Amino acid sequence: AIMECKIIRVALKEQVKHLILLRDITKEKELEAMRRDFVANVSHELRTPLTSIHGYSETLAEDDLEDKETVYRFLKIIENESARMTRLINDLLDLEKLESGDATFNFEEIELIEVANYVLRIVKPLADEREVILNTDLEEGIFIDGDFDRLVQLLLNLVDNAVKYTAAKEHGPKEVWLRIYAQNNFALIEVEDSGVGIPEESLKHIFERFYRVDKARSRKMGGTGLGLAITRFIVEKHRGSINLESEYGTGTIFKVKLPLKKVFG
Ligand code: ADP
Repeated sequence: AIMECKIIRVALKEQVKHLILLRDITKEKELEAMRRDFVANVSHELRTPLTSIHGYSETLAEDDLEDKETVYRFLKIIENESARMTRLINDLLDLEKLESGDATFNFEEIELIEVANYVLRIVKPLADEREVILNTDLEEGIFIDGDFDRLVQLLLNLVDNAVKYTAAKEHGPKEVWLRIYAQNNFALIEVEDSGVGIPEESLKHIFERFYRVDKARSRKMGGTGLGLAITRFIVEKHRGSINLESEYGTGTIFKVKLPLKKVFG
């Protein structure tokens, strides 16, 4: 424990007494350290894209770049990095809203396949671009109490990660599987990919904000390192749980378990 010690002099009827006050400030110190860590992390995360934007725009302004393709390539980097900064700030504000309890959830009866189809439409272009095959096994008629937009965000984070971090097996294609089914009193959502996997020692950190297994890859993919922290929060708000199994080099499977409202059909 970290103790704070204060000595107070009190004069009482011409007698001088000393009072020693001891206070346990372990929690306060921990919170302060966490806050400092967080500020350092955020500053670092913001500075990285800014440095790159600054560097490339400086080169564009100063050098007599004849080559149109190089100019285009530099501008594209600036565009991507500023888009990533915007995403980072939006994710930070969103996480703050979720953690402070300021985020409102509009719970209603939701059929999970509708969430899945919505997410698949959004992810399709990225999957095509990365030549990832999206396999689905989606049961109809599975209803839960949920907030549609938040469920889309949850599933989108997982499927988007699977598409971004999947790899091809020997001679095989890059693949992602999305499954929805009911089991006992739960709705289950599974998102699986065929690689790259997460090393054992990283598993316990994977939901921490800003944690990444491969910083360069996350950055190249436009990641913010906040997706899984937000995802876990949304799952908890739905009174569910999230788990993962992964083998480095083989693939990862995320499993989300949500309280089932009803199965229809
Ligand atoms: P990011 O914006 O970096 O994707 P996330 O919070 O969504 O942030 O994920 C944190 C890190 O977890 C990623 O940078 C990546 O290293 C790892 N990760 C997430 N999903 C997968 C996956 N399906 N396969 C391998 N690694 C993953």
